Amino acid sequence: MSLGKSFNQWKNAREHKHLEKMKRSNRCPECYGQGFLLYPSLMYSLHSDTLFCPGCEGSGRFNDWVTIQEREKHTEDEQVE
Ligand SMILES: [Zn+2]
Repeated sequence: MSLGKSFNQWKNAREHKHLEKMKRSNRCPECYGQGFLLYPSLMYSLHSDTLFCPGCEGSGRFNDWVTIQEREKHTEDEQVE
């Protein structure tokens, strides 16, 4: 696993700690493993008429969240640098 390095590029230390916790319990850090958002932002609700968590696409699993993060990172490629 080489997750730590890429996370540090865009997450601060506090969020990283949260991620570690979610990772250990295999829960999506955005929805806390629930698979949906109680208060979705306006941006998300424009793209979808469900409350499914966009981070994990409703599965609530950390592994799925990581996969989706990686996918987004590739599409946005190197904008951060
Ligand atoms: Zn989620």
